[in-house]
Amino acid sequence: KSARPRTALNECVKVVVRCRPLSDREKNESYEEVVKVWPERGAVQVYNPKGQDKLFTYDAAYDCSSDTKTIYDEMVRPLVASVLDGFNGCVFAYGQTGTGKTHTMEGNGDDEGIIPRTFRHIWAHIENTASPDVTHLVSCSYVELYLEDVRDLLSKECKKLTIRGQELNGFYIPEMTSIVCKSASEMVRLMRAGNRNRASGRTDMNEHSSRSHAVFLVTVETAHRSTNRIRVGKLNLVDLAGSERQRKTGASADRLREAARINQALSSLGNVISALAENSPHVPYRDSKLTRILQDSLGGNSKTIMIANIGPASYNYDETVTTLRYAHRAK
Ligand code: ADP
Ligand code: MG
Repeated sequence: KSARPRTALNECVKVVVRCRPLSDREKNESYEEVVKVWPERGAVQVYNPKGQDKLFTYDAAYDCSSDTKTIYDEMVRPLVASVLDGFNGCVFAYGQTGTGKTHTMEGNGDDEGIIPRTFRHIWAHIENTASPDVTHLVSCSYVELYLEDVRDLLSKECKKLTIRGQELNGFYIPEMTSIVCKSASEMVRLMRAGNRNRASGRTDMNEHSSRSHAVFLVTVETAHRSTNRIRVGKLNLVDLAGSERQRKTGASADRLREAARINQALSSLGNVISALAENSPHVPYRDSKLTRILQDSLGGNSKTIMIANIGPASYNYDETVTTLRYAHRAK
């Protein structure tokens, strides 16, 4: 892949890797760290106990001491700025369960996530550009994809939704709830309400969230009275299903089929992103529901960021290498 000239690549697609720190449990059990991040080179090295180390390079790589603020400022801020200019964008968190997808997207304690940072960025922009000539309208939707089901997390009992349309004119979800928000804190409350709705009635939310994708959509409309023009930018913030491979032993046939379909959807997303990154004339949007509903925010003038999350511990070696390969293939 390194033989391909960099100039041939689509600059609208960025792939970055984030490695989380060892957890307390992993420290107590004295697991070895097998990942070394070279932030200045955008490179990630994995020590291979049985052979040669593996080295992968990306648009950026963040080590275990990095915070979400840095990732936001360096990578996500320009994407959100272009959404405010009327373009579309997608931010994905990819990786094995437990590597920090939700930590990166929603945040945790002191480390505010990308989603709430996006909300504050949008409202700071609206306040800074306020004038009698402009009107902003910010609206939010929140859906979950689980196998073939799309569910509306902002509706009562997570109503099941139908995707309409076709590839040529675009896909859309006519019945999806869209709620107008007036502040960043209102948007955070909406995200939390959606998360509660998603969890309610589930015995194991962690298990469920590891098998489904959560898509938070923000639409920003900017109208100028003097010119009668309106600009619309859409931003999709996606916490993907866990990318781990199901172990064959002990798993039921249903579980294996479910895992195969999740992996199929993730590989279809990888195919779309890699087709976009290579400026390929054919982008296979139709292959999964996830890429269908995101079609208008993937490709064209849209910007895409894939954040591949990994863990540093030796027992995750195989999954870590699989994630690094997926992320590398995406671009
Ligand atoms: P995922 O959503 O990928 O399953 P989580 O975001 O739930 O993973 O993270 C798993 C655990 O690791 C959580 O307890 C989280 O707080 C912790 N964690 C993840 N990333 C980091 C990080 N960069 N720094 C500190 N702790 C982290
Ligand atoms: Mg999660």
